[in-house]
Amino acid sequence: MQKHFKPNFSGKSTYTCRICDHRTRETGLGEQDVELCAACYDLCGYENSMSDDGVEQLRPMKPEVQALIREVYARGNGDAGWAERFKELLAPV
Ligand SMILES: [Zn+2]
Repeated sequence: MQKHFKPNFSGKSTYTCRICDHRTRETGLGEQDVELCAACYDLCGYENSMSDDGVEQLRPMKPEVQALIREVYARGNGDAGWAERFKELLAPV
């Protein structure tokens, strides 16, 4: 039997993040359009600025990046490869 699907009160349904497999819903960042959860969406933004501006420019944001990776990790499916993608930033200086 198929489960009846109820949209949440905002009328938006849940979807699965294509990076970390987390079942999530739009929080207003536009992350549903790119099929990312809010944490992966932010991390993608940081990854872009790291490749555009270099790792040194992103260094002040390291605690924020670490917090987001921890958030992904805390869901129990590993870090979805984020630690590897930010290894240059996360490495001790
Ligand atoms: Zn995600």
